Amino acid sequence: MSPDRPTPDLFAPAGFEPTLAAAQARLAAVRPGDYARSRNAIEGAVTRLSPYITHGYFSLPQVLAGVRQKYRLDAEHKFVYELGWREFFHHVWQHRGPGIFKSLHEGVLPDSAYARELPADIRHGATGIPAIDRAVRELYATGYLHNHARMWLASYVVHLRKVHWRAGADWLYGHLLDGDLASNHLSWQWVAATGSHKPYLFNAENVARYAPPEWHSEGSFIDTSYDELDAMARSRKPLPAGNSRLDAVPEPACTPEPPPGLLAFEPGPPPDHSWLIHPWALREPPPGQQAVGIFVAEFHARWHWSAARWQFVATRMKALCERIHWLPGPAAGMLPRGCRSLAEAHLAPHWQVAEAVPVPRLFAAPARACHSFTQFYKLASGSLQD
Ligand SMILES: Cc1cc2nc3c(=O)[nH]c(=O)nc-3n(C[C@H](O)[C@H](O)[C@H](O)COP(=O)(O)OP(=O)(O)OC[C@H]3O[C@@H](n4cnc5c(N)ncnc54)[C@H](O)[C@@H]3O)c2cc1C
Repeated sequence: MSPDRPTPDLFAPAGFEPTLAAAQARLAAVRPGDYARSRNAIEGAVTRLSPYITHGYFSLPQVLAGVRQKYRLDAEHKFVYELGWREFFHHVWQHRGPGIFKSLHEGVLPDSAYARELPADIRHGATGIPAIDRAVRELYATGYLHNHARMWLASYVVHLRKVHWRAGADWLYGHLLDGDLASNHLSWQWVAATGSHKPYLFNAENVARYAPPEWHSEGSFIDTSYDELDAMARSRKPLPAGNSRLDAVPEPACTPEPPPGLLAFEPGPPPDHSWLIHPWALREPPPGQQAVGIFVAEFHARWHWSAARWQFVATRMKALCERIHWLPGPAAGMLPRGCRSLAEAHLAPHWQVAEAVPVPRLFAAPARACHSFTQFYKLASGSLQD
């Protein structure tokens, strides 16, 4: 960061405390009218509920019910619509399975036209484009990014620097507190046009309209017209890198195991008949059930997390469970008898709980697989109860 650029005071308000009280306070603070008017602005009235939703503090129906205690919202409301995007991405994941980690169809250019590594100047917030460099700094400092900033970052990475969406998605996932494989990887595909029908592009004027002055990027490569950006997206030539030796911010490490000293694991499998609390179900067990925490090593070997995310998950898990187990993959004999838990797509390919309780959904699932959000919302949202 150059010495004359302001210190990142913007990061301070994010603060995601890993407690139910903090999650409930955020839910109680949702102002759906302000949300609908200002959601696209970086400083708009967004909820910042995503880390709590991803980690299962509450389900989408509980979020909606919480807001409806004070406000009347139907399926046409912007807030419900945005919750619907999350549900849609999980619907696609359910139908496509690991297919979501590959391009759903060809994008602007063939997959082979894109690099497989994220360049150092992007990783270090040193591209020289304030909107991108601020986003990277905010991501590392808070584990959160506003939706618009995520879109700008993804668009720049894929369409202007010619990096494959998958490399960007894997990197972003590791640093987010709310990293959700369906929402993240399918959003990258939406931006890349491998999961939508046109590339998402943005310019300096768009940034100036929605972001505070520190993000403004006049005079940089993105200070151009949409026609020019479209031509750049369709060309194979990447924009030049920034100078990563200047202005670099260190990238926090993402690891397959929690930082040393954060968690102590019990040996062996969880006791029979326990209620398993996993990182995507950090909520109270049903009455009368013994809560036992589990991490599944096979998942984390593939998807690494930042120390901040390990801390976010571990703190809440320790508050809910007296004992926590670190489990290998789905070895027969490791499955405890009579254990129950919330079914979770993140866990499902690695470890099956015999009696998995379905995740409560906002809408009744459409009878067939939907390939666009519009189709999904039309078919599913009618099931929303008043
Ligand atoms: C490139 C990219 C990567 C993303 N990665 C993730 C991710 O890993 N995890 C994640 O939860 N979301 C992801 N999103 C979606 C969206 O950006 C975040 O859900 C949202 O910014 C979280 O902030 P919030 O809770 O303040 O959202 P709000 O706008 O207040 O919305 C409330 C809730 O609705 C849901 N929601 C809102 N917008 C979207 C959306 N576009 N897609 C899916 N769900 C939405 C989220 O659960 C969110 O918490 C990504 C978007 C993009 C463009």
